[in-house]
Amino acid sequence: MKILLVDDDMVDRMATQRLLKKSNLDIQITIAVTGHQAINEMESTEFDLVLLDYNMPDLSGLEVLQHVNIKGIGKTAIIFLSGSEDETLAQRCLELGAQDFLLKKEISQVHLLKAITHSKLRHQNEVRLDQDRLKIRDLAEYDQLTGLLNRYAFESRITQSNAFRNRLNMGLSLMILDLDNFKWINDTYGHDQGDKVLIAVAKLLAKVCREEDFLCRLGGDEFAIAINCDDKDYSYVVAERIFSVLKKPLQFDDFSVTIECSIGIADFTLKMDELNDVLKKADLAMYRAKSDGRNRFHYFNNTLQEISERRMSVASELRQAIEEDELVVFYQPQICAKSMKLIGAEALVRWQHPVRGLLGPHEFLDIAEETGLIVEIDQIVMIKACQQRLTWKNEFIKNDDFKIAINISARHLKSDKFLDNTKKVLEEIKIDPSFIDLEIVESELVQDFTKAVNVISQLKSMGVNMSIDDFGTGYSSLSYLKHLKVQTLKVDRSFLTDVPNSDVDCRLLKGLINLGKSMELTVVIEGVEDIHQLNKCQDYQADIIQGFHFSKPLSVQEFEAYYQQYQPS
Ligand code: C2E
Ligand code: MG
Ligand code: MG
Repeated sequence: MKILLVDDDMVDRMATQRLLKKSNLDIQITIAVTGHQAINEMESTEFDLVLLDYNMPDLSGLEVLQHVNIKGIGKTAIIFLSGSEDETLAQRCLELGAQDFLLKKEISQVHLLKAITHSKLRHQNEVRLDQDRLKIRDLAEYDQLTGLLNRYAFESRITQSNAFRNRLNMGLSLMILDLDNFKWINDTYGHDQGDKVLIAVAKLLAKVCREEDFLCRLGGDEFAIAINCDDKDYSYVVAERIFSVLKKPLQFDDFSVTIECSIGIADFTLKMDELNDVLKKADLAMYRAKSDGRNRFHYFNNTLQEISERRMSVASELRQAIEEDELVVFYQPQICAKSMKLIGAEALVRWQHPVRGLLGPHEFLDIAEETGLIVEIDQIVMIKACQQRLTWKNEFIKNDDFKIAINISARHLKSDKFLDNTKKVLEEIKIDPSFIDLEIVESELVQDFTKAVNVISQLKSMGVNMSIDDFGTGYSSLSYLKHLKVQTLKVDRSFLTDVPNSDVDCRLLKGLINLGKSMELTVVIEGVEDIHQLNKCQDYQADIIQGFHFSKPLSVQEFEAYYQQYQPS
């Protein structure tokens, strides 16, 4: 046991030393004869116990204790030794963290030993409590992966610093940052590596922030920074710095990645602005940055607020529309390019809005995607289209090859419910699965390729065919086509815009058709608007044509009329 004995009085010191030596304790005694010497010793050595004289010429024992507390070196049990009896003083010493207060004249060997043992135990308990307290605070305030503040601590630090900022008339900007490609990193390299990336990003962000800024991990791959600034433009500077530090690929032992992120920024404009409102604004701006093409920042403005409010009201109306059965399905005819027979239709959702009239998908599907309502909408369209197909089979479409194509959103395809939902619809409506085709947009398919491959092969085993919609817009590697067991490619209508006028576009269209056919897929061309485009598609041997040249999407009654008067020509 290492003991520091601090006493300026040689006689007292020797008496205490004698008592200590007589005990059977295994001790090493260091002597200090002034308060300053005691502090120096405690700074350089970790003692198990300090026996501290109260009366010393340079510093009183109490002052030594205060120094030790301020400097954070108070990790040692301290017992005061005093020549005079003073209850108030003893109380004060104990309050400041001393373990005991002994009167020199009363000290006996037994007495001292007892005090040492008790003090040590009490001190150990205090240290343990202190460590637990720190651990709890750490758990409550810090993100355990990155060591950054968590959301709770972030919010409370901002609130605590409000008064200070207001006094200095200082502004505050909030920045929300979301990694664009983190899901891909996790899927490609696994979660452990994903964690390493988050830790590395947190370190880089910490470098960009100043000491007075607060940086936190909101959760997942989302971070927030509160930037204290006089100058409104300073947050732009921080955003630019972040892009510049993230530009360099992050190198790890076995992989390297380049991080891209989207940033939204919003300011506290009024003193009474609520933190949560500003966070929401920054969040809106961040989503705007994402929808503008990612890897950029966006500053919150009121237009965004209006858009967001409109979106919220559309979302709640849409929820009601689902309950009130205001969603209807339109059908756009599909024609066999070779025989010119009407061989199918694509089911396209419309919203029969009680006030605004008939609304197309562009008015509400993105909101449905964001809110998750798309899953219900897809399900409703699937049920309605399947029922319609059966009704037509019994009434006037005798051709069993007539198929209805139904659009499925990526969110629905990815949801765990999708396969069960589809199975349920097929069983309840008792429809032959070969009567329908499910379409999924290419760009969305490639986002979660492994899952898509799996779901598509299970659908195939249920007898349901899949198409890749808007093919050519997904910027994806063609090799994935081999792995997806789809039957149909729908070439995006943008490839038709300059056909037949542009030679390059004609060659591109021909190339896309050949690609699909070389993989033994049925090739559908959508967006055919005139006879010239139709002729080109036929020349290039597309299989199925869809477009305004034949008809726009039609209501059930309109479609029936169209079907009845349709003549292959
Ligand atoms: P899509 O699946 O690619 O559907 C084709 C879209 O192109 C339809 O737009 C159709 O009206 C339009 N179109 C067809 N022929 C022509 C043409 O010759 N010229 C031009 N300019 N446009 C043509 P619509 O009905 O507005 O649907 C837009 C998108 O909304 C669809 O694109 C599809 O991705 C999505 N969608 C529609 N219904 C549903 C649904 O029930 N569920 C899901 N998840 N998405 C749907
Ligand atoms: Mg489609
Ligand atoms: Mg399409």
